[in-house]
Amino acid sequence: MEISVTKIQQVCEYLDQFAPTRLAEDWDNVGLLTGNRAAQCQRIMTCLTVTPDSAAEAIKRGANLIVSHHPLPFRPLKRLTTDSTPSRLVWELARANIAIYSPHTGFDSALEGINQSLAEKIGLQQIKPLKLIPEDPQNLGAGRVGKLAEEGQNFSSFVESVKSAFEKQTIKVVGQRESVVKKVAVACGSGGSFLSDAIFCGCDTFVTGEAQFHSCLEAQAAEVNLVLIGHYDSERFAVEALAKRLGIQFGGMEVWASTKESDPIGWW
Ligand SMILES: [Zn+2]
Repeated sequence: MEISVTKIQQVCEYLDQFAPTRLAEDWDNVGLLTGNRAAQCQRIMTCLTVTPDSAAEAIKRGANLIVSHHPLPFRPLKRLTTDSTPSRLVWELARANIAIYSPHTGFDSALEGINQSLAEKIGLQQIKPLKLIPEDPQNLGAGRVGKLAEEGQNFSSFVESVKSAFEKQTIKVVGQRESVVKKVAVACGSGGSFLSDAIFCGCDTFVTGEAQFHSCLEAQAAEVNLVLIGHYDSERFAVEALAKRLGIQFGGMEVWASTKESDPIGWW
């Protein structure tokens, strides 16, 4: 009997089906970023970001492929030396024969992607894309918008429900406690650039990972509530779900979500 061996390319093809690279933003860098498509793949580690900690874990556990939500490299590298962190990590992982695939904003916008999961996690219904991608064959787009099941919920109780969904003790917010929440937009990660889309769609509340001070002021001026759950928390859960999904898709392969990465920002 012939033993079937999965190649990196087969994993890439599956990932491109699940989180299509066509959905990625123009500025992004997605797909297979380093490695040999023809190489065998027996062990995959997913992570939010390739960091010295998560890279060391992948090397120690003999991963063949890292599926990192955030791309590495992201910006073009002119040299592969150990002088800067990104180039050092690319160099060390290449020497350990570990490929890197990044789905990034393709994963954010996918049918069952991060923003869809985020919208479901906070209890939205009638979920639709916040910003449609022109002429997308599946009518997909960036971010999500939806309605709350419970009518007349105020912002204060909505924030409590988001905190419990993400098991957080503290959360950053902009808004009025007593204002009524009806229509909510979500965008994982640094979603500040989608605030204008949330306002345009008539949302009263916008949930994202992080936003700049001036976006917070803009939300306040537009009387749109803002909930900032943290960049890490807004995306890391999806990386764990992706590891499970890959494990099911490629039975027999060892797939895990990095246990060594953590939120660099403390919530004290
Ligand atoms: Zn992110």
